[in-house]
Amino acid sequence: RPYNFYAGPAVLPQEVLEQAQSEMNNYGATGLSLMEISHRSPIYDAIHNETQLLFKELLQLPDEYHVLFLPGGASLQFSMIPMNFLTPGKVANYILSGLWAEKAIEEACKVGDVYVSFSGKANNFTKMPSLQDIQVHTQMDAYLHITSNETVNGTQLHHFPVIQDVPLIADMSSDILSRPFDISKFAVIYAGAQKNLGPAGVTIVILREEALPQHTTSLPAMLDYRTYIKHNSLYNTPPVYPIYMVNLVLKWIKHSGGLNIMEKRNEEKARLIYDAIDQSGGFYKGLAHPASRSLMNITFKIWNDELEKRFIQEASTQQLVGLEGHRSVGHIRASVYNALPYKACQALAEFMKEFQKRYS
Ligand code: PLP
Repeated sequence: RPYNFYAGPAVLPQEVLEQAQSEMNNYGATGLSLMEISHRSPIYDAIHNETQLLFKELLQLPDEYHVLFLPGGASLQFSMIPMNFLTPGKVANYILSGLWAEKAIEEACKVGDVYVSFSGKANNFTKMPSLQDIQVHTQMDAYLHITSNETVNGTQLHHFPVIQDVPLIADMSSDILSRPFDISKFAVIYAGAQKNLGPAGVTIVILREEALPQHTTSLPAMLDYRTYIKHNSLYNTPPVYPIYMVNLVLKWIKHSGGLNIMEKRNEEKARLIYDAIDQSGGFYKGLAHPASRSLMNITFKIWNDELEKRFIQEASTQQLVGLEGHRSVGHIRASVYNALPYKACQALAEFMKEFQKRYS
């Protein structure tokens, strides 16, 4: 298999793919594929509930948090968060840290009043806010929305604020389960599955029910978090197969040693590539400010556009695929999610050194 540096979807552990393959036609000796089995059956129920329990275990979730499975990608959460949390008379507070935060803000503006309490736009989104930059207004703010990892820009929040009296909500689509963190700081976290959790098709929302404000108007059922809580995410047919794949990935994380081990591995992997950048004497330049560098998406450039194209093309012939930067930023991006093995990063770092020797 080539080494997969794509930003998604989805980077999956080899063991998980093999297990899914072995169960594809005949799940649990039923003679049927899981895709053909009723989502109301005890067989599916066991997967659904076990997946929630695995999240609870890996994130050490207190009882008041619900693990919900939603359709619509993280992009639907950009609308559902304000629809459910932005009550009349209040204002939604957003941290504009990059392209994904910008999209979340665009959607929130369609629902109600929004203000941006920090913007990294003037710095081309190369820097995440410091903890001092993250401010709330207790009486006014409906919630504070942050993006823990900006997939396109290659920046990551390395510390989360402690906020009193205002619900803290985070888009963790591209770094969920890559490191341990204290969930009790958050009212809601959400993530499309297709980076660290499984294939596209299911979005995980972890939510503290008491943080939900009372609605004055009723929301469509599928846009109301209460529907998912009340029906344990089985109001309609859930994305059964993606949830099953997430289940396998969570077991893989658990058996690998949990989130502390994921974090350690991710630090070691990212270090190989950041070292190759920093020790290149300026041949490669990181796009993110060093203090904001992401352990998941490593963005960098080469001083010459033609060389950059050649780098990406030659890398792909050496089985290092998916290194193109996002279309809005260009340059080079190596996405190094949980499931990408250490030896993939070793191979990329070696390739970077060898490429530099040939072209400098
Ligand atoms: N938020 C972040 C941080 C992302 O990286 C992405 C997709 O890459 C999204 C949101 C949008 O996710 P989806 O495609 O699941 O709507």
